[in-house]
Amino acid sequence: MSWLDLPAGTGFGLDNLPYGVFSTTGTAPRTGVAVGDAVLDLAAATGDDVHATRSLNAFMARGPRAWADLRAQLTEWFTDETHRGDVEPYLVPHDTVTMHLPVEVADYVDFYSSQDHAENLGRVFRPDSAPLPPNWKHLPIGYHGRAGTVRVSGTPVVRPSGQRRAPADDAPTFGPSQRLDIEAEVGFVVGVGSDLGTPVPLAALPEHVFGVCLVNDWSARDLQSWEYVPLGPFLGKSFLTSVSPWVVPLAALEAARVAPPARDVALLPYLDDTGEPWGLDLTLEVRLNGELVSCPPFGRMYWTPAQQLAHMTVNGASLRTGDLYASGTVSGPGKDQRGSFIELSWGGREPLALADGTTRTFLEDGDDVTITATAPGAAGGRISLGEVTGRVRHAR
Ligand code: CA
Repeated sequence: MSWLDLPAGTGFGLDNLPYGVFSTTGTAPRTGVAVGDAVLDLAAATGDDVHATRSLNAFMARGPRAWADLRAQLTEWFTDETHRGDVEPYLVPHDTVTMHLPVEVADYVDFYSSQDHAENLGRVFRPDSAPLPPNWKHLPIGYHGRAGTVRVSGTPVVRPSGQRRAPADDAPTFGPSQRLDIEAEVGFVVGVGSDLGTPVPLAALPEHVFGVCLVNDWSARDLQSWEYVPLGPFLGKSFLTSVSPWVVPLAALEAARVAPPARDVALLPYLDDTGEPWGLDLTLEVRLNGELVSCPPFGRMYWTPAQQLAHMTVNGASLRTGDLYASGTVSGPGKDQRGSFIELSWGGREPLALADGTTRTFLEDGDDVTITATAPGAAGGRISLGEVTGRVRHAR
C-alpha cells in the first residue's frame, strides 16, 4: 500500500520506479523518478548532488549496490506514511515537466536478434537464398552506431537525404529518402564499465546493466540498401536514433524474465545461457498517427541482452558507463507483430491499409510514430516502459 494517490492500472506503480532526467520551466535538468502521474525530484528529495548532474551517468556509475539502496529507500518513502511530509513537496506533476535524454550515451551498438525480423528481411531482400546468413545462429550480429545522434523521444525526425540506387537505375542519385522506416527495439543501458582486455561473462549482466529503455532506430532503407555492403549500416541509420525518456531498472523486470526460444544450434560456451534465462516478456506496441499497427513480442528474441553483452566484450572490448546497446528490430511471426514498415509492407509491395482509408508503405512527412511497451510487474499488473515518439519533418 502507498499513501500516493496512484491511478488505477497505472504502469508507473511502486514495482516500476523508472529513472529519467527532467526539468520544469526555468530550472536545470535533474534526475527524477516516475510514480503514478508524478515525477519525484530526486535531486531535491535526496539532497544528493549525483542527481543534479543532467544525466543518469554519475548515479549509474555507483553500481548495483547503490541502485538497490535507492530503490529500497524510494519504496519505503512511498509506502510509509511517516515520510509523506518530507517527500510529497518534491512530487511534480508529470504533465508539467520536460524530459531530456536520460543518459550521456558513450558507445552505441545495435544488434539484429529477432529471428522473425532477420528472416523477413532475408526474404524481402534475398528471395533466392537462405533467409538467415550462416553466422546468425552462432553469434548475435551487431554493428557500432553513432552515439552522438541518439536523442530523446519527441526529437523531430528530419527526413535524411543521401545516395540511393534502385535496382533498375544505372547510377545512384541524391535526394531525400523515399523509404524512411522505423525499427521498434529495446535498449539496454550500461551503468558500470569493464576493464579493457577482460571479457564480461553473461552471468555478470546485473553487475553492469542499469536498465532498459525503448529505442526507435529510424532507418532510410534506400540509403541503407545501396551503402551497406560490405561494412554494414552507416548513413541510412546515423541521422537519428530515438530513445524513451524513462529507464526502467533491471530490478523492476524480474517478473518479466522468461526462457529464450529453444536453440537448434549448439552455442559456444561463452554464449551458453543455460540457467541464465534473460529473455524478457515485453510487449511492444507501434502506433502510426495514433493507430495501432503492430504488437512485437520481445519474449521471442533469439539472443538475450546477457548474450549480447557477453559477445560484445568477448574480444576484450571494454564497457563504459552510458553505453547503450539495442536489441535489433523486434518482430514476431504474425503480420501484426512486425517491428518495421519494410516488413509490414513487405518491401513496399503490399501497402498497409490504415483505418482512415489510406495506405502506407514507408513514412510520409508529418507522420507520427509512437512505440510503447509493457511488462509483467512484481505486483501482478503490468509496468510501463513509457514511449518513444517522433514526427517526420520535410527534408532540409
Ligand atoms: Ca536496428
